[in-house]
Amino acid sequence: MKTDINSLYYDELNEEILAMGLPKFRTAQVFSRLHEKLCTSFDEMTELSVKLREEFVDKYEIRTVKAVKEQVSKLDGTRKYLFALSDGNLIESVLMKYHHGNSVCISSQVGCRMGCRFCASTLDGLERNLTASEMLSQIYEITRLTGERVSNVVVMGSGEPMDNYDNLIRFINLISCDKGLNISKRNLTVSTCGVVPGIYKFADEQLPVTLALSLHSVTDEKRQTLMPIAKKYSIDELMKACEYYFDKTGRRITFEYSLVRDVNDLDEDAAGLIKLAGRLHAHVNLIPVNPIKEREYRETTGPRVIEFKNKLEKSGINVTIRREMGRDIDGACGQLRKRTMDESTGKEGQGA
Ligand code: SAH
Repeated sequence: MKTDINSLYYDELNEEILAMGLPKFRTAQVFSRLHEKLCTSFDEMTELSVKLREEFVDKYEIRTVKAVKEQVSKLDGTRKYLFALSDGNLIESVLMKYHHGNSVCISSQVGCRMGCRFCASTLDGLERNLTASEMLSQIYEITRLTGERVSNVVVMGSGEPMDNYDNLIRFINLISCDKGLNISKRNLTVSTCGVVPGIYKFADEQLPVTLALSLHSVTDEKRQTLMPIAKKYSIDELMKACEYYFDKTGRRITFEYSLVRDVNDLDEDAAGLIKLAGRLHAHVNLIPVNPIKEREYRETTGPRVIEFKNKLEKSGINVTIRREMGRDIDGACGQLRKRTMDESTGKEGQGA
């Protein structure tokens, strides 16, 4: 099997290059071609002789994703991409344009095994982990297609990043590498459903990355009905892990809270959220749940969302309503992939 060259750190690539009997300036050349100039084939590396390019082709694979569908939101210009991996699996990525720059939301796994009730990514379970190169390639491909510089990355697409830990760390180090796209770690966010040992391990890396916790409920009982992971770790254990993360990295935690009508948008929910967010000085990101046809959950309506936000704000909580970007283009996690797969297997229309 060929080596996945885009998942190698600079030093690892250097070892490979030296083992091929090449001088080390080749490492700088090849690494820059891959991670700065975003080449997708060795043929583009014209500073290498044809013979040398053939040697690379024999030994190495440049893993890329290929766009098979692109949807542009008429509401806000958000672009959603359906990408095919080299083995035919499909994943989704999203480009969002903000005043402060372009943000890309990437997937970390094909599918997901966490089973959150409202989420489309997990309906068919986990297919496989993405390699670091496949996470990078989502950003590289969007940069190539749009010609725009990406300044922020959120690992908030399909998959649970803590369930693909080693590749996640490799991805973070490569995307922020000064010999590559050099996106600051401070502009990276990793979102987890709350895998407690993963949070501790991630904290110990002491990377200045923002951690977002998908909280969605303030009592264990309610959280367990929405998220199976809550049966494994209590909210109290989660809060301790988040405190540890804040102590180790100095980065404030973000709580993600998807508002589900009559489920987690009651006064008692707001009161509980004020307590938890206050204790951690967390930033709260509210979003009305994006309903999927397979489940009965409905979103909290506009005025109620504002009311919920105002309650938090009055208590001094730092809160934003996430712009519902691309709601007209299957904006929520895994919806476009799921729909495309169902269409190709004739399952369309069988959902709830
Ligand atoms: N596994 C990670 C990251 C992927 S999901 C995590 O759980 O955090 C990114 C965010 O979108 C999570 O907060 C998730 O709970 C939320 N989400 C998933 N499906 C949604 C939907 N249909 N509507 C609103 N939010 C959703």
